[in-house]
Amino acid sequence: TKTIKNVICTFCGTLCDDLEVDVTDDEKKIVTVRNACAIGAEKYLHVSNPGRVVLPRMRQADGTYKDVSYDEAIDFTAKTLLKSKKPLFYGWSSTNCEAISAGNVLAEKTGGVIDNCATVCHGSSLLAIQDTGVPSCTLGEVKNRADRIIFWGCNPAHAHPRHMSRYSIFPRGFFSAKGQKGRKIICVDCRETDTAKVADTFVRIKQSYDYEIFDALRTLLRGEDIPDEVGGVPKEKLQEVIDICKSGRFVTLFFGMGLTHTLGRNHNIDAGINLIRDLNDYTKAVLIAMRGHYNVTGAGQVLGWQYGFPFACDLSRLTMARHNPGETTSVDLLVRKEVDACVVIASDLAAHFPFEATRTMAHIPTITIDPHISMSTELSDLHIPVAIVGVEVGGCCYRMDNVPIETRKCIDAPDGVLTDEELFKRISARVDEILAEN
Ligand code: SF4
Repeated sequence: TKTIKNVICTFCGTLCDDLEVDVTDDEKKIVTVRNACAIGAEKYLHVSNPGRVVLPRMRQADGTYKDVSYDEAIDFTAKTLLKSKKPLFYGWSSTNCEAISAGNVLAEKTGGVIDNCATVCHGSSLLAIQDTGVPSCTLGEVKNRADRIIFWGCNPAHAHPRHMSRYSIFPRGFFSAKGQKGRKIICVDCRETDTAKVADTFVRIKQSYDYEIFDALRTLLRGEDIPDEVGGVPKEKLQEVIDICKSGRFVTLFFGMGLTHTLGRNHNIDAGINLIRDLNDYTKAVLIAMRGHYNVTGAGQVLGWQYGFPFACDLSRLTMARHNPGETTSVDLLVRKEVDACVVIASDLAAHFPFEATRTMAHIPTITIDPHISMSTELSDLHIPVAIVGVEVGGCCYRMDNVPIETRKCIDAPDGVLTDEELFKRISARVDEILAEN
């Protein structure tokens, strides 16, 4: 075997960059993974399991699937997209930026709507950040400087298992040489999570009272009075949070979907940003969204620099990009049956969208591009398998703090299996050919 060092884990938004992967000498199989957490290691180890799909699968009239060639799959996809008036391209969070860019070209050519997983996770954060701005920093700065950490509506102990040991709670940094001993950890949540159990202060709030709590904290910070209890939290507890933050040198607020998906949504994030802004009158304070999939941040970056909007981007008017959450967002388009074809890429729409939206997807021509079998592939007319980013192909991905990181290839993809980028380029080329023929 040989060892590949400094491998980037392409599972969650932490994008850990210190994995060591032992592969066989012919670079066909992964033998061992070191340094990854349980979920990260599993991603690498299950690649070599038997039963991998290596050919596109087309659904037949009787509901069974038949293997077809990549040429047939590409032709079917190109014709389906050209026949469609408004196709939806949803997903993008588990592939590299090169593939996202190539996919955007295809969506532009076929007048589609491009949306990524932010539409059902941190889309509200992106709206607030565009409205209000974002005082932020890199995870490296958090590790080296932060002495006050707030986790709000997130549970990294389960969702980002190495976040706490690499960046937020335990590591010793340049100005934080005492590690955990030099930090005060606050956890704000409506339930006592495993992250809350390692916090110094746990603030249990009533569900959906985040906005009120932020407002109360800002009021206390200004030295004004508040009622004896806000959102289920006694005034003294909120004052304790403010005192801890004001006495710190560098405060970092990490927030997750427990904040973005409770009542108030983007307004919760507005209020959080404003609390951080106010804290900067006393000390240094920043906030970072806990992004889930490893390149959901990159999906927003690529869309942002190509069309000006980080998600829910409607290119059906061909001459201009439109972004109107509630109208151009995937769930709304599917529930209202406003799209007539769907490409699911690097995500599992059927596993996460409301039933009404999934039902529409199952009734319109759908192509799912994914290395594995998922709920979406089983509701699709065509499943095209691809190489796994970060394992079988490299490419640029953005960490949750918006730092671009070049991922590494460890082993070869099964013979003949295309990468996402190659696939989108070939579908685009086939679209051009068909348009030229007509
Ligand atoms: Fe991979 Fe995330 Fe675990 Fe790091 S924390 S090893 S990026 S799954």
